Amino acid sequence: MPAHDVLIIGAGLAGQRAALAAAQEGASVAILSKVHPVRSHSVAAAGGINAAISVDDDWRSHAYDTVKGSDYLGDQDAIEVMCAEAPNEVLHLEHIGVTFHRNEAGEMDLRAFGGASMKRTAYVADITGQAMLHVLYEQLMKHHETIERYEEWFTTSLIIGEDGECAGVIARDVRSGRIEAFTAKNVILACGGAGQVYKPTTNGLIVTGDGIALAYRVGAPLMDMEMVQYHPTTLLGSGILITEGARGEGAHLLNNKGERFMEKTAPNKMELASRDVVSRAEQIEINEGRGAGPDGSGIFLDVTVVPRRRTLEALREIVNLGRDFAGVDITREPIMIRPGQHYIMGGVKTDVDGRTPIDGLYAAGEVACVSVHGGNRLGANSLLDTLVFGRRSGEHAARRASEIAAPKVDVQAHVRREEEMLEGIISRPRGGRRVSEIKDELGETMNSYAAVFRDEAGLDTALQTIGRLKEEAAHAWIDDRGTVFNQDVLGAVELGFMVDCAEATVLGAIERKESRGAQFRTDYPERNDEEWLKHIDITLGPDGPEISYSPVTITQWQPEERKY
Ligand SMILES: Cc1cc2nc3c(=O)[nH]c(=O)nc-3n(C[C@H](O)[C@H](O)[C@H](O)COP(=O)(O)OP(=O)(O)OC[C@H]3O[C@@H](n4cnc5c(N)ncnc54)[C@H](O)[C@@H]3O)c2cc1C
Repeated sequence: MPAHDVLIIGAGLAGQRAALAAAQEGASVAILSKVHPVRSHSVAAAGGINAAISVDDDWRSHAYDTVKGSDYLGDQDAIEVMCAEAPNEVLHLEHIGVTFHRNEAGEMDLRAFGGASMKRTAYVADITGQAMLHVLYEQLMKHHETIERYEEWFTTSLIIGEDGECAGVIARDVRSGRIEAFTAKNVILACGGAGQVYKPTTNGLIVTGDGIALAYRVGAPLMDMEMVQYHPTTLLGSGILITEGARGEGAHLLNNKGERFMEKTAPNKMELASRDVVSRAEQIEINEGRGAGPDGSGIFLDVTVVPRRRTLEALREIVNLGRDFAGVDITREPIMIRPGQHYIMGGVKTDVDGRTPIDGLYAAGEVACVSVHGGNRLGANSLLDTLVFGRRSGEHAARRASEIAAPKVDVQAHVRREEEMLEGIISRPRGGRRVSEIKDELGETMNSYAAVFRDEAGLDTALQTIGRLKEEAAHAWIDDRGTVFNQDVLGAVELGFMVDCAEATVLGAIERKESRGAQFRTDYPERNDEEWLKHIDITLGPDGPEISYSPVTITQWQPEERKY
């Protein structure tokens, strides 16, 4: 049975950064991932990472932009930590080999991004996540003697010890189907977000909310789950992301009359207002009949206004995406986009060291809610969040490990329970619905009722549907009865995780009776600081989800009206 000081679940940017930091502190470390680490979803990150690197910039300006972007729901102590530590974190990456784009003077180049008061996004063309993930993975391999890697292992549950502390995980070897208990003094969840709860989404098939549900099921509170980001530029139909870097380079958004409609909503920032603001403005154009395309459900993104040479150099990936997925040469004609699900601001509630209220359980990256993004994340702040809070979690967990003894826990009962659970899924009779059908209905329901605009009636419909889908998911059948690479059975487990995430999202959205950040309630269209300047926490109690509140930490920026 493998035993470690620090066990990290997830090998995206947050997980890999946490592993390297914990090893640096001298802990025995393992990192476990359901896919090969460089297939983690961080690899898709495109536009860049924010840091106040420029000599004209100041981390306080970055922090203020982030607070304003969050619609004042972000915790300002955490935002200060993230923004103050950003420059060193990005320079560290450069020193270990990330080839950030440089300008003609040879300095690190910075591009404009939404909601930022100046250019502060470092980038590697539009493949920034890939460049960063591969460099961190090189470092993991370099430190192979101190960091154990369990690649293609799927975590099905957390082990809670007799004193209520997290003592490890149960995982299934995807290649062989073998179940194993991994004990650890500390577990760091770095499992990414829950984008697949929606359909369509910019997120890959593996982004199924596992870490959020794993923590929730052992009693860790979730926070701000109602805050779901719709990105303003996703390809009509497929939902594939067209990076905000396009607008950062100067691309325009146009309605079917060829108007730059952002003039009405954000005359100062135009296309580079916060994502929630731009997505809402687009949806209004579509809803009021000024959308583009055959059924008027799209908006034009015009990249032709960016010099062609610059597009081919700095946005080459979206040139390929436009050609391959929409048949459009974006250097010569506008491409049709619309707002699409992209990111969840909520997640497992943590402090600035990644600690959850459960001893020995940490969370970092998109799975966590520190909360630095509050009601709306600024573009290019997520990669930063993964690195800063991944590192801090790894360091804290390593220090904690040096102060405590290994947990004593009877793992056999846990292993048996998980084996029975998986066997139960594999042997289900072929009645009822398939996993994929339930997943599709879940995604479409969320996209209909918990999207850019929401109201009580729609959210109630979504909650009822989720209740039914939960029942159906418990009996959904699968085809594959084997043990080798049985993704079918893991898909059924993921479906259960997704249903939990969806339920928490909708419960939070029903509870928050105001409009703030990504949550726009047409029945409560105003922000209401008096009653709702607070986080909504959801905890799984004996009788189901329980809602409570926690205060927003304000250090130096009092809430103001948000204008761009
Ligand atoms: C298309 C796209 C472009 C983006 N571009 C940007 C950008 O330019 N700038 C920016 O700041 N942000 C961007 N984002 C957001 C950002 O990429 C993500 O929020 C961030 O990379 C998440 O990193 P992570 O380490 O938290 O999780 P991930 O990279 O998603 O990694 C999750 C890890 O957890 C593992 N895992 C999950 N469940 C289990 C389980 N049950 N058992 C074992 N392992 C498990 C996975 O295998 C994986 O290794 C983008 C997002 C998308 C979708």
